[in-house]
Amino acid sequence: MSRKTILVTGGAGFIGSHLCLRLFDEGHRVICLDNCFTGSIDNLGERYREMVLSGRFEFVRHDVVDPIKIEVDQIYHLACPASPVHYQHNPVKTIKTNVIGTYNMLGLAKRAFGRMFQASTSEVYGDPAVHPQPEDYWGNVNPIGIRSCYDEGKRVAETLMFDYHRQHKLEIRVARIFNTYGPNMAVNDGRVMSNFICQALRGEPLTVYGDGSQTRSFCYVSDLVDGFVRLMNSNETGPINLGNDRELTMLELVNAIEKAVGRKLAVTNKPLPQDDPKQRQPDLTKARTLLGYEPRVSLEDGIRRTVDYFKKALAVSAS
Ligand code: NAD
Ligand code: UDP
Repeated sequence: MSRKTILVTGGAGFIGSHLCLRLFDEGHRVICLDNCFTGSIDNLGERYREMVLSGRFEFVRHDVVDPIKIEVDQIYHLACPASPVHYQHNPVKTIKTNVIGTYNMLGLAKRAFGRMFQASTSEVYGDPAVHPQPEDYWGNVNPIGIRSCYDEGKRVAETLMFDYHRQHKLEIRVARIFNTYGPNMAVNDGRVMSNFICQALRGEPLTVYGDGSQTRSFCYVSDLVDGFVRLMNSNETGPINLGNDRELTMLELVNAIEKAVGRKLAVTNKPLPQDDPKQRQPDLTKARTLLGYEPRVSLEDGIRRTVDYFKKALAVSAS
């Protein structure tokens, strides 16, 4: 495989940090661009020094809302806060990141004749009326709700991707990512997996929103990153769903975390947030047949590895 120069925006975040490591280990030159809003270069851990010293890794602190010129072969565009707590913190900035940020990265890809990958989301399906969700489902999204800055922002980003493809013949890849978890999620991330595990480890009750009957399907991060690389290096534009199709309710997730920590956990109920999707499960037919993609890490294994990570992360944040 030839060595490429690859830009990863949002590369200091949860998924981006795993992607940077994977691409670096494949021998590529990796440029990690991030404004460190929800990510940190600490996510590269002990590998950071070695990577920089190799001359094949560079960190650029930059906001994708501002244009930048870099010569690259491929762009994985991940920059955007992903947790509802973080993307609702400054919704106008979230829209700017999704729309202007994607526009800027498309300009960069066009200028460099590069290939551009967009980290889209299952949120483009909104609160889905079709279940499981195939890629040809157009979704059920509230355009003016509190999740819209993210959902509609990502939908416009997909539109921009396909307009650049049609109008400028740009090579594009669009992945629709379903709920992903694993090491390097931030302790204060606010998503259900990190909340539940941190609450369990701190001896606090688990905050179940609503009655806990809503479903999600959780993918371990190494499986997702494998899907990213397969899609980027395939001939498919997408959109293609990536995730794990094992669906469970939030109450079933509580049980899975009880098994991982080896004890019964107290639960406290909180109101269901506005527009919270009732069900979510990817139809992975396209990913399986077109990319040979298969999620391999079981929920039990993935939760165990994530619990181990959060034990260390909580110890560091307490010291
Ligand atoms: P994350 O919040 O850990 O990572 C996002 C990264 O983008 C952070 O490092 C953050 O600092 C950076 N960032 C945010 N705004 C930026 C800006 N304006 N300029 C430069 N950098 C910026 O989230 P994640 O879970 O790693 O998500 C990565 C991508 O995957 C996001 O685009 C997200 O929408 C998408 N996604 C994630 C999931 C999931 O379950 N984790 C699901 C669907 C889609
Ligand atoms: N949720 C919960 N308790 C929490 C955080 C989230 O019950 O502490 C619920 C949330 O209402 C949603 C599901 O868990 O139904 C997944 O939420 P998350 O924020 O992880 O991701 P989403 O898929 O909603 O973007």
